[in-house]
Amino acid sequence: MSLTPAMLSQIRALSANAVEATGELATAICRVPAPTGHEAERAAFVAALIRERGYQAEIDEIGNVYARRGNRGGRAMMALAHTDTVFPEGTDLKVVRIDNELHGPAIGDNSLGVAAMISALQILDKLEVETESDIIAVANVGEEGLGNLRGARAAVERFHDELGAVVAIEGHNLGRITHVAVGSKRWRVTVRGPGGHSWGAFGQPSAIHGLGRIIAAIAELEVPSDPRTTFNVGIIDGGTSINTIAPAASALIDMRSVDASALDALATRVGRIIAASVGDGLTVDVETLGERPAGSRDKHDPFIQAASDALSWLGMDTVYDASSTDANIPIGLNIPSLCIGITHGGRGHTVEEYIALPPVELGLAQLVRLCLDATALISSRSS
Ligand SMILES: [Zn+2]
Repeated sequence: MSLTPAMLSQIRALSANAVEATGELATAICRVPAPTGHEAERAAFVAALIRERGYQAEIDEIGNVYARRGNRGGRAMMALAHTDTVFPEGTDLKVVRIDNELHGPAIGDNSLGVAAMISALQILDKLEVETESDIIAVANVGEEGLGNLRGARAAVERFHDELGAVVAIEGHNLGRITHVAVGSKRWRVTVRGPGGHSWGAFGQPSAIHGLGRIIAAIAELEVPSDPRTTFNVGIIDGGTSINTIAPAASALIDMRSVDASALDALATRVGRIIAASVGDGLTVDVETLGERPAGSRDKHDPFIQAASDALSWLGMDTVYDASSTDANIPIGLNIPSLCIGITHGGRGHTVEEYIALPPVELGLAQLVRLCLDATALISSRSS
């Protein structure tokens, strides 16, 4: 489908008109607590917002909210906007407007993403278009921290055979198109030994010494810069006192790559180091804390191109980006997918987070145009 100039100017006008309402929606969503793993209250709130707008909304057992626009059946486009935040229960979720900015914890990441998804449905309704394939809108859980993308995973699994494309929506980073999924593996490595008095039992193996040997060997690893691959031992923990041979010690290890096989290769090497370096008389076990698939979509992929064309239409240059987002899940499964942003802002993951309201106009217009173009592409591919 090629959009007529009249339709394009209507999208611009409706997006401009929706900025204030989208800011109010984001504010209302932001005020409902939703730490990762405890999204139920926000999920119920978002489901109610969607129902008020004439849609059916369903909440699944983990707290994902689903709504469908269209009833063509067949292949569909999925929009994902995560509801969870990095802020623990008890955080003051106050939102303040200062001139044309909204300030509040998770206002951009991702209250605005969820609000924009809802606004985009409404703009499509006002345009009175039946998109060429259906849109499945999902306000999903589990994107942040150790959420391990479980919301996106469940949504993509559920609709797997129907998915023609997936668009993840983030409040920040308007102009950025994330087409490369940075994959990660996060492990907790725990070493255990007999313990004992540092003087009396000298010679017994120490869990801390064993863990130290493991970390020292990991620190010597060389990893490729292309494909970019990284590792980090971020937290260590263990021991009981200065004069006790440590009976237990653990470390948290984060490994990342833009390439799935480079990530697997790194994990294999780290696994071998763990087994080989711990030393006699100690046991070691590895617990997986998180796993996000790596992968990428070509810049010339028509869906990526459609998102980029929408930015050029709005006078913006595309910044192609590699990042870890909900789009990791469908990218890892080779489904055409990307992540886009809605406005500019800053101080994400802090209570001083803020977003600028005026650019929301452009973010909404990009999203709506992408919905129209992507659903058309999906239908042309299935016919
Ligand atoms: Zn986010």
